Amino acid sequence: MLTSMIWINSASMVSQTMRVLLTQLKCPRSMDFCNAVMQAELNWAWYEWQKLEAAKKVFEEGKLKHSMTEWRRHLHQNPEFGFEEFETANFIVGRLRELGYEDVVTGVGGTGVVATLKRGTRARTVALRADMDCLRIQETTNLPHASSKPGLMHACGHDGHTAILLGAATLLMAEDTFDGTVRFVFQPAEEWGQGMKAMIRDGLGTKIPFDEVYGLHIKPGLPVGQLETRSGPFMAAEDGFQVTVKGAGGHASSPHLCRDAIVCGASIVSELQTIVSRVLDPAELAVVSVTSILGDNVKNAISSELKIEGDCRHFSSVVSKKIEYTLRRIVDGIATSHGCEAKVYYERVFVPLVNEEACTQHALAAAQAVFGPENVSGDAPREGGAEDFAQALLIAPGAFANIGNGDSAVCHSSEFEFNDEALLPGARWFAELVRQRLPIEAS
Ligand SMILES: [Zn+2]
Ligand SMILES: [Zn+2]
Repeated sequence: MLTSMIWINSASMVSQTMRVLLTQLKCPRSMDFCNAVMQAELNWAWYEWQKLEAAKKVFEEGKLKHSMTEWRRHLHQNPEFGFEEFETANFIVGRLRELGYEDVVTGVGGTGVVATLKRGTRARTVALRADMDCLRIQETTNLPHASSKPGLMHACGHDGHTAILLGAATLLMAEDTFDGTVRFVFQPAEEWGQGMKAMIRDGLGTKIPFDEVYGLHIKPGLPVGQLETRSGPFMAAEDGFQVTVKGAGGHASSPHLCRDAIVCGASIVSELQTIVSRVLDPAELAVVSVTSILGDNVKNAISSELKIEGDCRHFSSVVSKKIEYTLRRIVDGIATSHGCEAKVYYERVFVPLVNEEACTQHALAAAQAVFGPENVSGDAPREGGAEDFAQALLIAPGAFANIGNGDSAVCHSSEFEFNDEALLPGARWFAELVRQRLPIEAS
């Protein structure tokens, strides 16, 4: 290898020496022939040098993959719930400082962290975002790096997302391949749908501005090394509701003296099924689910009160308003017909995640460069799951994508395990997005 590099670096000197030697040796062959042989040698040397560079890169990436795996497993062992990611934030800041990051802001929206890296002079900023929080789930994987905290688990891959963003911060710090500003955004409390709003209230997007924003999520079932996204509505909004029905309780043997909150509530639950099937446009995707019912819970007494809770998913604010309006109308009408009173509390927790068209194309272009076109899809199916990144897309154009976790348990399962093979591909996609969106223009 070393010889090859000397050949390359001193090609003209070699050429001159070769000519002298050929003359002294009185080479019977023509100079053209000898030059051709020498050129072939040089081509071979060039090929070898390229292989060496590629090997160096693999070696560096191997080291990075090892570090990212360690980071991910450390975070997995030490999960923290939304807005309580204090140690997680400390860990992130520690790694960023080791990498040489100086502009690191902490406490953004509670426990959020934003690191900034500037290169060159272009006044354009790309934000990359990861989430940090875990779920209240008891892990059952029995892995050596399983959660050390009872009842808390990284079951949605946010440990991996954080390690991926640290990996991208490593790659971009080590190179001089872009002209502009990158912000690395580590957000708290994604699972609650509150973390991004808190960061925005604290100045993300204003005091800490950016022009476009990208994020990713691990997806079980999608092969490792593949990426999928789609333009427009991608992930559902989530609304929650609670209906409280008040009747008049009494002895189970005397319904004529009571106003049964359970019978009233049962009618409400049945009628709510007609919102999607009879009220909404069939072309609209929506779900209205009743997920919890709680009465007085006395076996020989008629319930005086019933609490009904539920969850709605959809992809547009118009549909959301229609669901709320119809739900209130149904509840009021049925409660009145049963002689009961009812109150409705309706809240919008997650807005729909809508990818901006141009940014989706940018996300796909970077993915094609990293994964190869055959491993990238711009036609991902819409998902009923909600994602707090949607809030960031309300303040700047951007795109969100899924990357493959291979065959694994689903997210939010106590058996879920982030596939460490997905770490480096995710980091490389983020870094490539920055290179492509903030290219160094030839002067
Ligand atoms: Zn989740
Ligand atoms: Zn998640």
